[in-house]
Amino acid sequence: MNDQVYSPTRTLMGPGPSDVHPRVLQAMASPVIGHLDPVFLQIMNGTMDMLRKVFGTENQLTVPMSGTGSSGMETLFVNLIEPGDKVVIGVNGLFGQRMVDVAARVGAEVIQVTAPWGQPLDPAEIEQALKQHGQVKAVGVVHAETSTGVRQPLEPIGELAHRYGALFLVDAVTSLGGIPVEVDRVGIDACYSGTQKCLSVPPGLSPVTFNQEAVKVLGERKGIVQSWYLDLTMIQRYWGAERFYHHTAPISMIYALREGLALILEEGLEQVYARHRLNGEALQAGLIGMGLKLLVDEQYRLPELTSVLVPEEVQDVEVRKRLLQLYNIEIGGGLGELKGKIWRVGLMGHTCRRRNVLTFLSALEDILIQLGYRTENGSGIREALRVYQAAGGVTI
Ligand SMILES: *Cc1c(COP(=O)(O)O)cnc(C)c1O
Repeated sequence: MNDQVYSPTRTLMGPGPSDVHPRVLQAMASPVIGHLDPVFLQIMNGTMDMLRKVFGTENQLTVPMSGTGSSGMETLFVNLIEPGDKVVIGVNGLFGQRMVDVAARVGAEVIQVTAPWGQPLDPAEIEQALKQHGQVKAVGVVHAETSTGVRQPLEPIGELAHRYGALFLVDAVTSLGGIPVEVDRVGIDACYSGTQKCLSVPPGLSPVTFNQEAVKVLGERKGIVQSWYLDLTMIQRYWGAERFYHHTAPISMIYALREGLALILEEGLEQVYARHRLNGEALQAGLIGMGLKLLVDEQYRLPELTSVLVPEEVQDVEVRKRLLQLYNIEIGGGLGELKGKIWRVGLMGHTCRRRNVLTFLSALEDILIQLGYRTENGSGIREALRVYQAAGGVTI
C-alpha cells in the first residue's frame, strides 16, 4: 500500500538524489524528540564530529544547515561577502553559474573565470583575474561539477587565492563522500556540501565548515548578515555550548545525516573512495566498450558522475523514458548548453555498487540496440567485468 501511496522503488543513477541507505531510512523513522533534549544535543555533537572527519577538518564551526545544497552555497556568500566585495568565481558548468548568481545577489562585484563545459578551470586564468582586479575577498570554485562530471583540482587554486589574500571557497556538494575533499590539507577556508549526493541521505541538509580565517572574516563584518535564517553568528550559538534557540532543527534529517556519516566511517573513508573509483572506472570502461563517447578527459573524470554523449542514432528522452519504465533506473539528462546532448550517470554513495553498474550497462545496451544503435551485444558488460576482474573483485 505504501508503495502505491508514496513512490515506486527506483535505482537512482542520476545526478542526485542518490539511493538512500536502508539504515538511514530506518534512522529517520525514530521518534522525534525536542531540539533541546539532552539526548538530541549528544546526537548533534556526534554529527558534528563525524562531519569533521568526512570533511577532513578540525574546524570548530562545522554544522549542517537546514536546507538543500544551495542553502550551503548561500550560507557561504551571505556570511562572508558584503556589498561591494570583489569575488572571483570559476564557471565551467551550471553550479559555477549558480554561485555567480548567489554572489551577485549578495552585492558582490563578481569576476568570472570561465572554461568550456566539460573542461576544468585553468589556474593561470584565475591568477590573471586576481592580479588584474586586486583586493579580491574570495575565490569560489566547484570541486565536482555535477552538470558535466568534471573534477576540479583544488590545490593550485587554493594556493593562488591565499597568495593574493583571498578566502578559498569550495562547493563540495557532489564530492563529499565520493572523492577526498580534505578541507584542512587543501587549505579550504569555507566549504559546503549536500546530503543527497554521496552521503546516501535524502535531500534536506547542507553541511558547511568554516576555518579560523573565515570565522575571523565573519566576526569583522561591517554590517549584519543579510539573511536571518542563514546567519552563522546566531546558528553557531545553537550548535555550540550555549544551545541558544535559533530555529527548530530538522530532527529526523539530522538522524539521517548521522546515520549516513556513520556508514561512511564504518566502511572507512579510503574504502569509500576506492569503491567509487572502482565502480566509476568499470562504468566508464563499459560505456566506452559499447562504442559511446565520454564528455570529460580521463584525467578530470569524476567516478561518481559520468557524462556520456548521446549517440546520433537515438533520442535522449526516449532512452531515459525506457530506462525508467522498463528497468526503474533513473539517469539524468544534460543541462544548459548540454541539454539533449549528454546523459549524466551517477554512482553516488549507496548507489555506487557493482550490481547497479552491471544492471545499468545491460539495460542501456538493450535499449540502444532496440532503437537501432549498432553495438555488439554484451560489449559494455565485458569491459566492465574486465575492470572488476583486474581489481580482484570478480572472477568470470
Ligand atoms: C546538487 C548540487 C548543488 C545544489 O544542491 P541542491 O541540493 O539541489 O540545492 C550545488 N552544487 C553542486 C555541485 C551540486 O551537484
